[in-house]
Amino acid sequence: MSSKQQGRDFLASVGHYFDKAAALTQHPEGLLNQIKMCNSVYTFKFPIRKGDGYQTITAWRAQHSHHKLPVKGGIRFSDDANEDEVVALASLMTYKCAIVDVPFGGAKGAVKINPKEFSKTELEQVTRRYTAELIKKNFIGPALDVPAPDYGTGAREMAWIADTYLAFHPEQIDALGCVTGKTVSQGGIRGRNEATGLGVFYGLREVCDHAEDMKTLGLERGIEGKRVVVQGLGNVGYHAAKFCSEGGAILVGIAEYEGAIYDPKGIDLESLMRHRKETGSILNFGTAKNLDRREDALELDCDILIPAALENQITAENAPRIKAKIIGEAANGPVTADAEDILQAKGVLVIPDIYINAGGVTVSYFEWLKNLSRVRFGRIEKRFEQGAFDRILQLIEKESGRTLSDEERRTIARGADEVDLVYSGLEETMIGSYHQIREIWKQKETVETLRTAAFVGAINKIAISYAELGVFP
Ligand code: NAD
Repeated sequence: MSSKQQGRDFLASVGHYFDKAAALTQHPEGLLNQIKMCNSVYTFKFPIRKGDGYQTITAWRAQHSHHKLPVKGGIRFSDDANEDEVVALASLMTYKCAIVDVPFGGAKGAVKINPKEFSKTELEQVTRRYTAELIKKNFIGPALDVPAPDYGTGAREMAWIADTYLAFHPEQIDALGCVTGKTVSQGGIRGRNEATGLGVFYGLREVCDHAEDMKTLGLERGIEGKRVVVQGLGNVGYHAAKFCSEGGAILVGIAEYEGAIYDPKGIDLESLMRHRKETGSILNFGTAKNLDRREDALELDCDILIPAALENQITAENAPRIKAKIIGEAANGPVTADAEDILQAKGVLVIPDIYINAGGVTVSYFEWLKNLSRVRFGRIEKRFEQGAFDRILQLIEKESGRTLSDEERRTIARGADEVDLVYSGLEETMIGSYHQIREIWKQKETVETLRTAAFVGAINKIAISYAELGVFP
């Protein structure tokens, strides 16, 4: 199937999910339309010098909803990118931000290139030129539109974006807040790099903590011992796999671009990463079995499947063969609407992307706040907290007659660093948001899936924003 058709299907899937949820709300049709439609899409082309000649690059920035500003969403570098895909991803950002109470509208950007075919210098040229085009049209800025990393981009590209924006706006005191996911030395925040994968773990752990939901799936409570398969070992997939393993889950299958492996005894992630670095592939790793096709990993016998690569991976074609009991949509849109109906009938619990991968935008929000306030989280209170804990411990020591070891004292009387606060804020967000979605899912018999519940919650919150703006009654 062509990537254009895939983009159309993806947008149609998102529209279908929205309509299903919208039908369960009481909002007027005009308001629901306003929430659903994409407000603006900027499509542009620019030339870059490549090899001996020039190449014309196609790029997009879609701003789905302006009900809150700035709008926010990643930038994808992919040669499969197309306008419908960008619009679908931008709309998911709107709902995602509402679900985790991050005060942004949704956006997304894409550059139609395969970054693997570009040198570092060429990628820098593309990123800086893309940023300059956005600046020309007021499609970037700390109060307007704040990009972040996505498929094919990372902290390096975000630092180039920030640097380009600053060159055009040296007078703006909060200019660094024009993009998130930057390197820490360029105004980034500790914990952003792993945030999406860590959020996936916090979310899955919370889902698995509800004994009655696990019982329905024929599973024990808790993430410990759950057999996990991950598709895509990039930023999101690697960190989701890492934190799930550290949380006691067993990694039994991994799929990457070059193939897939399976080991029911468990795969040690760090050894696998070393093996991949040395050999250039995840294949032929220890006692793990190579699978015939990389897509076969999706159909492995496991408890939790984490697709963390791209959209449209679980379709009506392979959904009947899926054996996982839980699917955590770390990627955006990995399950198509047709597939979800099949999975629902099979009793598979799908944890929707607009909730489970919201850790990235949550910590991006913290980074943006840091850039506006121009102070590292924890800098002001850390020593004060430490002193207060220390005084309490001294009192306890005096009253109890027991003296703590240096190690015990260090562990207990510790003020929070930036990364501690970021993890804590992310954990609170993922737990709190899941409870909100689950309440909607459980309360109404008509709300069949967690996805519909998440959409209903998001639509209701966005409708309140419009009402507060006085746009709709
Ligand atoms: P990434 O580029 O870091 O990693 C993606 C990985 O998937 C790569 O290693 C690639 O080789 C692999 N891959 C591609 N096609 C594959 C296939 N068919 N089978 C197996 N592996 C395949 O990208 P990322 O930032 O980790 O993003 C992954 C997904 O997560 C995307 O859908 C993105 O929109 C979503 N997401 C990312 C973030 C973020 O903070 N980066 C936040 C929310 C959602």
